[in-house]
Amino acid sequence: MSDQICDLMTRDNLRWKWITLPSGERVYDVSLSRCDGRATVSFRGQDESLHQTILNHLQGILQRDRQRRSDIAKRAAETRARRTENKTRYYADAYLRGLFGLSAETPAFQPTAECRICGKKIRDSESKSRGIGPECWSNVLQVAECMAKIKAEAKAT
Ligand SMILES: [Zn+2]
Repeated sequence: MSDQICDLMTRDNLRWKWITLPSGERVYDVSLSRCDGRATVSFRGQDESLHQTILNHLQGILQRDRQRRSDIAKRAAETRARRTENKTRYYADAYLRGLFGLSAETPAFQPTAECRICGKKIRDSESKSRGIGPECWSNVLQVAECMAKIKAEAKAT
């Protein structure tokens, strides 16, 4: 059975209902506190000889936990980047087809206070009426330019 983190109190004070050591031995009411950069461990029983083993074990758990969180964050960032790219392409294509400015007929291009690509708040009225913030809009234009070039080259050959 895996170790169970029961209570994440603060960054500097973690508690477990129980943990299972590599030896198979189970230790209850374990807590790990950090004070002045020093980690201290307490657990039910207070068998002094187990201190270092428990400390090493907990640090292993925390290390794996950090790794897992950073993997999740990385995957989330990749997903966001892919979505942004897809949206940018979508609006670049719409731009090339002259769909901007037809806001009444095309709900996707109606004015909004949040960028349709990145979701950030938009401040200037020109961007608001476009529904895309200045940074994302400059990306849209770049992508549109590339798309136009590719289309032109495809026609020429
Ligand atoms: Zn944006």
